[in-house]
Amino acid sequence: MCAAGNSVNGDISEARLPWDGQAYSVKRFGTTITDCDSEPVQTPGCIQGHGALLVLRPDDLTVAQVSDNSGALLGHAPEALLGQPVSRVLGEANAEELRRFLASEPVDRNPLYVLTLPGHNGAALDVTVHTTEGVVIVEFEATAHTATNGPDYFSLIKLTVARLQSAASLQALGDAATAEIRALTGMDRVMVYKFHDDGHGEVVAESRRPELSSWLGLHYPAADIPEPAREVFRRTWIRPMREIGAPLSELVPLAHPDTGRPLTMTHCALRATSAIHTEYLQNMGVTASLTLSIRRGEQLWGLIACHHYAGAFDLPYNTRAACELIAQIVSLQHKAAEDRDYLSRQLGFDEVRQLLVSQAEHEGGLSAMVDGPLTLLDALDAQGAALFHQERWWRVGQTPENDELDMIADWLIERPEFSSSTEPVFVTDALGKLMPCSPEVSAIAAGLLALPLSKRGKNLIFWFRPETLRSIDWGGNPHDKPMVPGPNGPRLTPRGSFELFSDSVRGQSVPWQQWEIELALRFRLVVMQLVISRAEQLTELNLNLARSNDDLDAFAYVASHDLKEPLRGIHKYAHQLTDSAALANPQDAQRVDGLIRLTLRMDSLLESLLHFSRVGRVALELEDVDLDELVHEALGMVVARRAEKPSEVVVAPQLPHMRADRVRLREVFVNLLSNAFKYNDKPDVRIEIGWYPPHAVDRKPHWPPEVTQHPIFYVKDNGIGIEMRHAEQVYKMFKRLHGRDEYGGGTGAGLTIVKKLIERHGGVVWFDSEPGVGSTFYVSLGVQ
Ligand code: ADP
Repeated sequence: MCAAGNSVNGDISEARLPWDGQAYSVKRFGTTITDCDSEPVQTPGCIQGHGALLVLRPDDLTVAQVSDNSGALLGHAPEALLGQPVSRVLGEANAEELRRFLASEPVDRNPLYVLTLPGHNGAALDVTVHTTEGVVIVEFEATAHTATNGPDYFSLIKLTVARLQSAASLQALGDAATAEIRALTGMDRVMVYKFHDDGHGEVVAESRRPELSSWLGLHYPAADIPEPAREVFRRTWIRPMREIGAPLSELVPLAHPDTGRPLTMTHCALRATSAIHTEYLQNMGVTASLTLSIRRGEQLWGLIACHHYAGAFDLPYNTRAACELIAQIVSLQHKAAEDRDYLSRQLGFDEVRQLLVSQAEHEGGLSAMVDGPLTLLDALDAQGAALFHQERWWRVGQTPENDELDMIADWLIERPEFSSSTEPVFVTDALGKLMPCSPEVSAIAAGLLALPLSKRGKNLIFWFRPETLRSIDWGGNPHDKPMVPGPNGPRLTPRGSFELFSDSVRGQSVPWQQWEIELALRFRLVVMQLVISRAEQLTELNLNLARSNDDLDAFAYVASHDLKEPLRGIHKYAHQLTDSAALANPQDAQRVDGLIRLTLRMDSLLESLLHFSRVGRVALELEDVDLDELVHEALGMVVARRAEKPSEVVVAPQLPHMRADRVRLREVFVNLLSNAFKYNDKPDVRIEIGWYPPHAVDRKPHWPPEVTQHPIFYVKDNGIGIEMRHAEQVYKMFKRLHGRDEYGGGTGAGLTIVKKLIERHGGVVWFDSEPGVGSTFYVSLGVQ
């Protein structure tokens, strides 16, 4: 497809071409072409008018075709030359020299300089010759510097080669090549133009006259260099254009008189420029150009494009030969330079990877990879990265929003490549074309490289690249002037071609290279090792914690058990003292009373502690427990409290059965009910005992996570209530929110024991309360 956008997708039939059946001539038919791919650029039927061309029969070197300007340049009109021996133009001696040259030199599809002719109108003519498809082509070029009077190219090129060979990177090679060619030719701008995988081009190196604005980094649509032109550059190294738009000379006759075939001019230095390309260059302000190819084996990697902006520019044979040599050296050096680049980038990324992981190891885990000094964006060439870890997204750079990331993750988890055991990675450069997503997402996340970090769940790392259109500088209007349509409409203006280009690259990112994918997979392994080692650390911490809990229980047991004995002694001794006559002093008697009260209080504290330690130590005896029965038993055990005031107790019908330790669970209810009666100042105490089956109630924000998945039991009272800021305090050992003897007194161990018992059942206890209105204590026993 070309800038004109009228491709007929390869089904161009002869009859539909404007030159219908006749040999093509760019001069006659060029402007009627609307489709670049149909333009016969290798058989244009014309040459650039500053030179002349002869087509000779190989056997007798008689003239079969000649350019129509032969009269002016060679002194013989075409009709005077056709069918005549070449000696008519060259003279006998030179004709003999040509014959000898053809017999001895490798001229097949390889134009070589033979001699310089004085020239008919004063200007010297360089003569080059090559053979192709059974004919001999002789080109005559009028140049200021002929091959015999120009500079010493051999010494020049020797230095150039040395400079190219010492280039340490691909960039340095490109910079050196552009600088050398500009110095050698004296052209205004020399660029290295690289083809991307989708065929579009980017200027990656440039040498220019200082007053020109830089085109470095600009991108150009693939259509700007259509396929027929690329094909020529796979076959030749060089394409000179002395003066864009200068008059052309047509061949006489247009087709070979013996074979009827058009002349293939692929290797001719004088080949006339394609009509469409001429127009395109003119629209860019280019007046003369030289293009060289950079090849990787048989592939066309890119071009070296040289522009001149002020009229005709002579490119004599020797200059061209030197440039051709440079293009060949660049092509050879290119692979080595690219390998060096790849290696050094890989080493760079490897270093970043190590640093990132050690950063994560020492500074708060994986999330440090998005908010630390180094981020995931340093590990790969991307504009955004996201990590799903610990049930949330961590993002850096340009990424979709969390809900959009969720969508991408859900979609990805289903993809087979994601669960591959050898290469679990997903890569695309056009996400929007694979999954339904908003234009915004497909613009900033067109490129996605995703790695799973665990087999189950969605622990993931994403890297994003935006669509190319957003990240590239477009070279559509390099002269900063309004679009000027060509003589054939807007088909060839850079901006016109950009619009077509932008459609084709929308939603498309720069593709991920294989080496980047390999790098990401290696990164994944290191991150997973880190995750595993952190999990191991956690298990160890848990073990240590369990061990210290056990130690605490053992300590509580020993302390409370062993302290009870001496306490009993003190108590007994104090009693004896009250009876003794030695306490005549009433103050002393009071002190001894106090001592007795303290021993009693300490005894109940020790009793609670002992009980608590037993609760932690004794194994649970799990059985099927009828909660209906159990609650009524518990109510029976708090009758003393019930008797204190009028009270109404409502128990929901048909409480379910649960698997639990009956005695321990009853203790839980006894404690909760006892508190519900105790902390109640209303004249009519009202207590309700009920339950919610799983999922029957909505979780409130402060409730523990996931509690609604199991049955929830509750004890609700209309008592004094608890300020929610004490929500954690009430479970602390010996913590009371009131004075020691208020509300019937207590040790402050009840709820601590309740919590321990419930936790041993794998459950949770929590409450809602409003001071002055009442409290509701909830119990969920968790998975049994
Ligand atoms: P104790 O009842 O022995 O003081 P608990 O551990 O059972 O110890 O309770 C701790 C504290 O929580 C109590 O001192 C009380 O302030 C508060 N509390 C417990 N249950 C209720 C309730 N149903 N209503 C109001 N306050 C309560």
